[in-house]
Amino acid sequence: MMTSQNTKTESLHEVENLLEDAEGKNRIDLLNKYAILLADLDKSRCRKITSQALELAESSGYRKGKAVALFGLGEVARVSGEYRAALEYYATALNIFQVLGDAVQQGRCFRRLGDVHFFINNLNLSLKYYLNALRIFEKAVEKDGSSYIKINLGHLMATIGNVLKDSGDLEASLDYYNQCHTVYTREGFTAGIPGILYNTGNILYAQGRMDQAENIYRQALTEAEANGDYYLVSMALNSLGSVFLAADDLETAETFFYQSMITAEEHGRKRGILAATVKLVELGRLQGNYEDALELSTKAERLAGQLDDRRGRTDILKERALIYRGMSKYEEALETILLFEKLREEILSEKRTRELDILRIRYETEVKEHKIELLKKEKTIQRRMIVASVAGLALAGVSLVLVYRNVRFRTRVNKELADAYSHVEKLSRSDSLTGLSNRRAMMKNLEGEQIRSSRTSRRYGLIMADIDDFKRVNDSYGHACGDKVLVEVASRMKKALRSQDFSSRWGGEEFLLLLPETTLNGAARVAEKIRALISDTPFRCDKVSINMTMTFGVSEGGGVPVDHAIQQADTALYRAKRDGKNRVDSQLPAAGIPVT
Ligand code: GH3
Ligand code: MG
Ligand code: MG
Repeated sequence: MMTSQNTKTESLHEVENLLEDAEGKNRIDLLNKYAILLADLDKSRCRKITSQALELAESSGYRKGKAVALFGLGEVARVSGEYRAALEYYATALNIFQVLGDAVQQGRCFRRLGDVHFFINNLNLSLKYYLNALRIFEKAVEKDGSSYIKINLGHLMATIGNVLKDSGDLEASLDYYNQCHTVYTREGFTAGIPGILYNTGNILYAQGRMDQAENIYRQALTEAEANGDYYLVSMALNSLGSVFLAADDLETAETFFYQSMITAEEHGRKRGILAATVKLVELGRLQGNYEDALELSTKAERLAGQLDDRRGRTDILKERALIYRGMSKYEEALETILLFEKLREEILSEKRTRELDILRIRYETEVKEHKIELLKKEKTIQRRMIVASVAGLALAGVSLVLVYRNVRFRTRVNKELADAYSHVEKLSRSDSLTGLSNRRAMMKNLEGEQIRSSRTSRRYGLIMADIDDFKRVNDSYGHACGDKVLVEVASRMKKALRSQDFSSRWGGEEFLLLLPETTLNGAARVAEKIRALISDTPFRCDKVSINMTMTFGVSEGGGVPVDHAIQQADTALYRAKRDGKNRVDSQLPAAGIPVT
């Protein structure tokens, strides 16, 4: 920390000296650089310098300098919570970088636009911008492949995971977190690993996959310890405690909460201390240690006050009311509840004004986006008219070459645009590792198939497939080998399928296959064929040969709701796992469930 601050001051002085007799473009570049160095030291000075750079760049027609300055102003606005202004700056900068053809800078603008929309809870737009950025960074990786760009790609995957998490698509979020983890591991970016593992653990916890959550939190813990990242150490310990609390193992939970608290205390991590204390209060109450819990809650409340964490304070008040109730001190319980209500009302009313503000920004952006679309259409029409009139002249023998060039240019630009859109569209449908459809796309296919099948009353087959002991592959041969196995599994599965069948990656190492116009027995035969294709030929990774097996659950859809058919395949899969894996089991859906 100290050293980075020192080098920053040094560079500041350096740039100051250089600025003294710098002129023209060089001066603008230096001002921009200077502003970046000032960004977290002195926001208002940073803003002033960037505005200077912008003015100079504008008057001298230096477009790149202008775009960099606009991006800089966007940064200041963003960290100051001026989201509307930030969106304007980034969008204008983006326009210029697009004209200049600077891909990486475009990617940065898209990412920031995504960030701001995420802050204001505009998840659709956020995802749209992030996917644009993803596409650009992926291209850049293909071209350049420097670790720096790859790691940036990893960051982006993590942010996409965050958006998906907030929009409730936990599986997809998990997928992006996994991809980010893969990138960080491959690039040796150890600083990011505990955080991404911790995020992954939170998703698994939210899904109720407690064993897996525990496993990942433990990994996060180990990595955070290795990095000396004590905040995450304490948070991972705290979450491990929560896992055991959920399993009613109060004793183990307590050990973790204490460890979490001690770590946070030793390293002065107040937020960590607060989180652990709140959990210990809850635990104390559950154990019936009311006096201790009460005392701890006072400590927690003091801390929450210091941190100005009112949400934390409401949690504590709620716990305290429950403690008083447990102690049969009803008057105190009532008093505490009244305090709790008052604080919650305060927070809510503030949140309401903030939400109103956010809604207004969202509304304005939507109107603006709509206008841009209209303008685009208008422009195309205008351009067409120009081309048509030039064509008219050309026919009169003026300049055929000019027309030809113009048309060719437009075709190229349109094709690039079309490619970009189709790529983004494809990204949102497919799993980037295996190229199979993702869960969302499979759901769409299933809905379509369900409708078709209700018309023709033909059934369709469903196969839920899960790789056996896949964790062992990751643990013994590394994540990269695990990825290779996944890709190879997908390709072997495809071999056994017909062209009208759909295959999807349903979760981490789980696949769902949809076989139109196929009966239960037919689908079971296909599953058996895939099973043999997997188990008969070992997989290869880094010259080692790995024996893999897969387990299958088969069901039949069409006559029952989609969810029910999937659930039956799942049930069959679990039965087959229980019976020893590497086998196919099938389950006919129960009759009499109305199709919705
Ligand atoms: P079982 O036979 O009971 O299915 O055991 P398993 O080990 O296959 O199942 P478990 O669900 O315990 O572990 C699945 C593992 O798959 C855990 C997770 O880290 C890993 N995984 C999920 N997605 C990916 C991925 O994209 N790449 C790699 N390499 N591993 C993944
Ligand atoms: Mg498995
Ligand atoms: Mg599994």
